[in-house]
Amino acid sequence: MTIGTGARARFEAIRDVNTRTPRKFDPPRDEHGKRLRVSEFYGQNTFDLNKMKEKLPKDVYTKILSTIETGKKLDQDIANSVANAIKEWALSRGVTHFCHWFQPQTGTTAEKHDAFLSYDDNGRTIEKFSGAQLIQSEPDASSFPSGGMRTTFEARGYTAWDPTSPVFIVEHTNGKTLCIPSVFISYHGDALDEKTALMRSMEVVSQKSCELLHLLGETGVKRILPTLGAEQEYFLIDRAFASLRPDLVMTGRTLIGGQPPKGQQLEDHYFGSVPARVQAFMSEVEYELYKLGVPVKTRHNEVAPSQFETAPIFEEANIATDHNQLTMEILRRVALRHNFSVLLHEKPFAGINGSGKHNNWSLAVTASGPDHDGENLLEPGKSPHKNLRFLLVLTAILKGVHKHAGILRASIASAGNDHRLGANEAPPAIISVFLGEQLSRILDAIESGTVSNMSAEQAVIKLGVGKLPEVSRDNTDRNRTSPFAFTGNKFEFRAVGSSASTAFPVTLVNAAVADGFSEITEALRAKFKTAKSKEAAIFEVLVDAIKETRNVRFEGNGYSEEWVKEAAKRGLPNLRKTPEALAELVSEKSKQTLTKLGIFSEAELVSRYHVRVERYVKNLLIEAESLRAMVDTQVLPACLGYHANLAQGAVAAKAAGLTTPSLETANKLSTLLGNLQAKRAAFEKAFHKVEGLAQEDEKALSLCNEVAPLMAETRAVCDELEAIVADDYWPLPKYREMLFLA
Ligand code: ADP
Ligand code: MG
Repeated sequence: MTIGTGARARFEAIRDVNTRTPRKFDPPRDEHGKRLRVSEFYGQNTFDLNKMKEKLPKDVYTKILSTIETGKKLDQDIANSVANAIKEWALSRGVTHFCHWFQPQTGTTAEKHDAFLSYDDNGRTIEKFSGAQLIQSEPDASSFPSGGMRTTFEARGYTAWDPTSPVFIVEHTNGKTLCIPSVFISYHGDALDEKTALMRSMEVVSQKSCELLHLLGETGVKRILPTLGAEQEYFLIDRAFASLRPDLVMTGRTLIGGQPPKGQQLEDHYFGSVPARVQAFMSEVEYELYKLGVPVKTRHNEVAPSQFETAPIFEEANIATDHNQLTMEILRRVALRHNFSVLLHEKPFAGINGSGKHNNWSLAVTASGPDHDGENLLEPGKSPHKNLRFLLVLTAILKGVHKHAGILRASIASAGNDHRLGANEAPPAIISVFLGEQLSRILDAIESGTVSNMSAEQAVIKLGVGKLPEVSRDNTDRNRTSPFAFTGNKFEFRAVGSSASTAFPVTLVNAAVADGFSEITEALRAKFKTAKSKEAAIFEVLVDAIKETRNVRFEGNGYSEEWVKEAAKRGLPNLRKTPEALAELVSEKSKQTLTKLGIFSEAELVSRYHVRVERYVKNLLIEAESLRAMVDTQVLPACLGYHANLAQGAVAAKAAGLTTPSLETANKLSTLLGNLQAKRAAFEKAFHKVEGLAQEDEKALSLCNEVAPLMAETRAVCDELEAIVADDYWPLPKYREMLFLA
C-alpha cells in the first residue's frame, strides 16, 4: 500500500517552524555601546520641522512653516533652497535616489526612483536635486486606476510635493531612497489619488468648523484639523506555511481550511503574553517606524490566535494617513526578515475574528492663540461656554453621520471588509452612533427641556450657569458593536477594514461632518436673529438637531438581529455588501454634497465609484480563479489519491478473505467528492457567466450574489474533506498549524 506523500512540503514547513528562534537586530548604540533611547534616534530618517529649522535659512524656514500651518501653496522661490538642504541631508545619510511617494487608488503607495546623479557644465558627475524636482514630477499615469477619468492617450499625471508631510528616507539592504510625500493629479488637475481629496476635506472641515466657532465668538481660531489615530490589527503566520497556500499568496485570505478544534473560544489570546518571536518582530517594526518618525505607542495580542495590534499616538489626519501606509509597509517588510508573513486582510481565516483598523478621529484647534493650540473640540470642557461648544460640535457630527450614513458605509466597502461587517465580530453594515449613557442622558434631557431639573448624580453632570450642563468626560462604557462610537474625547470609526487606506474613510467622515457644521452654523445664525438670548438660540438649535438625529443613535448590541429589524424601522440604510454600498457614492445626494463642499468634482466621484467596483470585481475574480486552481490541483488530487489508497486496501483485504473497513471511509469520500465536483461545476458556470457580462457593476452584483455563495459552498465541502482525508495526503497547511505554531 502506498503512503501519501502530498503532505511532504507541509511537514517540512512544520519542521522549519519548530526550529525557528527569535531574530535579533542591531539597535542603535552610542560610542560606548550603550543602547540609545528612542527619543535619541526618533525621526532620524525624516526631514521634519526640527531639521528644517536647523538646516534652512531663517526666512526660508519661516515661509515653509507658514505654508505648512496655513495649508497654502509653497512659494516657488524658496523651493531651491529647501531642495538643496534636503539633498545635503540625504547625501550625508548615504541616499542615492529620490522619488515622489504617492497614493494612487490602489489602496497602497507608488514610487518611481531617480538618482541624484547628474552632470555639471564641465561634464563631470555630480549630485543634483532642484526645487522643481522637489515640487513636481511627471510619472506616466496610464497604468494607475483612474476610473475612466483619464484616457490612455492623455497619459500624463503629475505628482506634487505635500509639504505638510515630512520627506523621509527608506532604507533597504543595499541602499537608501529619499521619499517625497506627494499628491497625484491628472493633466487637467483631477485628483487621481487618495490624498488630494483628503487634504481638500481637511480644509473644508477646518473652514466649516471655524465658521461655527467664530459665530460663538471665538474669532481667534484660524484652523481646525481632523486628528487620526489608526489602530492597526493584523495576523502573523509563519512564511513557510503562507508560501504553501496559493490562496494566501494570491488573495491574502484562506479560501478553504477546516476549523481547528480550538479557535478563540478559550479567550486566552487577547492581551496575553506576546510570543517571543512575535515580540522580536514587534520591536524591530517599532525601531524602523521610530526612525521614520511614526509615533507607534501600543502593541498587544488581539482576540484571535496569531492576531496582533499596533497603535500610534494620533496625529493630523493627513500625516497619520501617510504613517499608517508606512506602518503597513514596514509590517510587511520586517515580517519577511522574521520568516513571518503578515496578513492585513480583513478576514484571513473563516470562523476566526477578522481585522479592522479603528480610525480614532477628532478635531483639534491648530492655529490660534496660545490658550487654544492643540485643543480638542471633542473634549468636554470645564466652562459652560466650552460645554455648549462641545454639544454643538457633537450635534454637528451626529447630523453629518445621520445624513450621510450612505457614503460613510461606502467609504469602508471592499471585498475583504464584506466578510467582517455584520459577521458578529465587527460592527454591522448599518451606520449608527454610540454616545454612551451619560451623553445620551444629557441629550435626552436637552431635547425634553428637563436639563435644568436634573440632579448632579442623576446626570453625572453639574449645572453651570443657567441651564448649561457641565459635561464631564466619561470613560466608563464602551460599545464594541457600534461602527461609530464616542469614546470620551474622540470618535472611533470601528468599521474601517484592516487593509484599507485611511484616506478615503477619513475624507468622507470629514465631508459628512463639514456638512453637519454648515447646517448647525446656518441654523444658529437664523436663531440668533429671533431667540431671546444667545444661550436660548443655542438650545433651540441643539433641541432641533437632537430630535432630527435621534434615529442614528443606538446604544444597544449592534450584533443582534433585533437591531437589524429596529434599524429598518428607523429607516437607516443596511447596505450589506460592497456593490450596493458603493452605489451610494454616485447617488444624487452624495454628488450634490461632495461637489458643493468642493471635495470631489462629479467626475472624480464617479471615477472613485468605478475604481472601487473594478477592484471588487478583480478581487473576486482572483479569488474564484484561485479557488478553482486549489480544488483542481490540490484538493481533488489529495482526495483521489487517498480514495485510491482506500480502494486498493479494500480490494486487497477482500482477496485475503478479510473484512473491508476501509470501504466505509472510501464511500463517504466518494459521496463528498461527488458533491465537490458538482459544486465546483456550478461555481465555474456562474464564474463563466460573469466573464460574459459587459458592465463592471453587473459583474460585481453577479460575483456578489451568485459566485461568492457558490464559492462558500465549494469551500464547505473541501473543509469536510479535510476532516476525513488522511493527514499525510493533505498538502495545505491547516488552520491549527498556521494559527497555533510559531
Ligand atoms: P482602544 O484599543 O482602547 O480603543 P488604543 O489605545 O489602542 O485604544 O487606541 C486609541 C487610539 O486613539 C490611539 O491611536 C490614540 O492615539 C488615538 N487617539 C486618542 N486621542 C485622540 C484624538 N483626540 N484624536 C484622534 N485620535 C486619538
Ligand atoms: Mg486598541
